[in-house]
Amino acid sequence: MADYAPVAGCMIIEPWGMAVWERIRDTFDAMITADGVKNMYFPLFIPESYLEKEADLLEGFLPELAWIEEPDTEDVQEKIAVRPTSESVIAPYMADKIRSYRDLPFRINQWANVVRWEVTDTTPFMRTREFLWQEGHTAERDNEEAQEEAMRRLEQYRELIENTLAISVMKGRKPEHDKFPGAEITTTVESLMPDGRSIQNGTSHNLGTNFSKAYGITYMDENEEERYAYTTSWGITTRLIGGLIMAHGDDQGLVLPPTVAPKQVVIVPIWRDDTEESVLGYANEVADELEDAGFRVELDDREHRGPGYKFNEWELKGVPIRIEIGPNEVEDGVLTGVHRDTGETEQFERDEVVDHVQQDLDAMQDRLLEQQKQFQDENVREAESADEAKEIITEHGGYVTMPWCGNEGCEAEIKDDVAADIVMVPLKPPVVESPCSICGADGEEIAYFARNY
Ligand SMILES: [Zn+2]
Repeated sequence: MADYAPVAGCMIIEPWGMAVWERIRDTFDAMITADGVKNMYFPLFIPESYLEKEADLLEGFLPELAWIEEPDTEDVQEKIAVRPTSESVIAPYMADKIRSYRDLPFRINQWANVVRWEVTDTTPFMRTREFLWQEGHTAERDNEEAQEEAMRRLEQYRELIENTLAISVMKGRKPEHDKFPGAEITTTVESLMPDGRSIQNGTSHNLGTNFSKAYGITYMDENEEERYAYTTSWGITTRLIGGLIMAHGDDQGLVLPPTVAPKQVVIVPIWRDDTEESVLGYANEVADELEDAGFRVELDDREHRGPGYKFNEWELKGVPIRIEIGPNEVEDGVLTGVHRDTGETEQFERDEVVDHVQQDLDAMQDRLLEQQKQFQDENVREAESADEAKEIITEHGGYVTMPWCGNEGCEAEIKDDVAADIVMVPLKPPVVESPCSICGADGEEIAYFARNY
């Protein structure tokens, strides 16, 4: 799916990986453009003075910025940063374009790359210096609309990740100290990976008027009064592919859910000289029929590779269904199918191939989501003390929930010992009646602790 690049921490995305990303991209793009979000493109480079306008943003991203120190041209007189995110170039654009309440809501998106230079422990798709993402940016009339917009996108992330990637998610908020720089509220979709660690799949931020005030995004309301717009931003990245690989993969390689697999069915014909014509003819007809029905099909009729080699290669790539066709299948008018996730083999009638493949793919999609969801549900545990929380994290991984006072110092108590953070708190602030399990002060939140990526 990917290869290492000359600059450490970057990756070369290969065709199979890119095809998966394109399916994620196309699916989500269709969801947001149906909602009226317009795609745009903004430059990779951001002048230092633009970043400086929103102090929290600059402070939050400063350690991660890659700079062009000496632009060395007559037109460029200041330091230029490579974008880590684009609020600081999109907000001034919005300030320029938005005049009246009639211009709101103002909703745009870009598919682009971003750079977070200071990243350690890099792993392809999981943590890379440069990655691909989409960043949506909107301006709304008031806080209520901004919050609705942020939640609409979070819900679309849930839908995308569960229905397309077959990974169940939990929606939540980031604790105050872990919000996006400059945000009022940061919400997240988290999933549990088989190794017991949580992965942040996407985030959606209500930025309040912080960016509007910094960049002057105002509009005239119906009474000709000038008001600040409320902005949001939201993003998912190529890290979704990292989660996909971990969530479903096994010892034989990838297991791709049918909705996102670049090829859903691979047909492997097995022939000798005297059966070549009949087997290949039969295999081609099956491939054509499946393709006509809309499936993504590969017919692997390479002559210089044996069936065993082909089976391994397509298993490694995670193709959901393999159909084997030899002289016996031709003679009996049947097909032999093998399911990638379970390894189960079955024979079915050649004439029923379209219906049968559809049923198998649907069943596999449901099965993958159900398995991961069940694993996730079974791994949310309550703890009544810091010691109990540490014990659970060490023994089982997963999520540990506890009443928490909201103080970052209490998180450190767990984090320093077992490397688990508060990955989220519930979306709506809960009524917490028990004291903080760590310090005994009044409980403010239910914290979800987990080791995370
Ligand atoms: Zn506490």
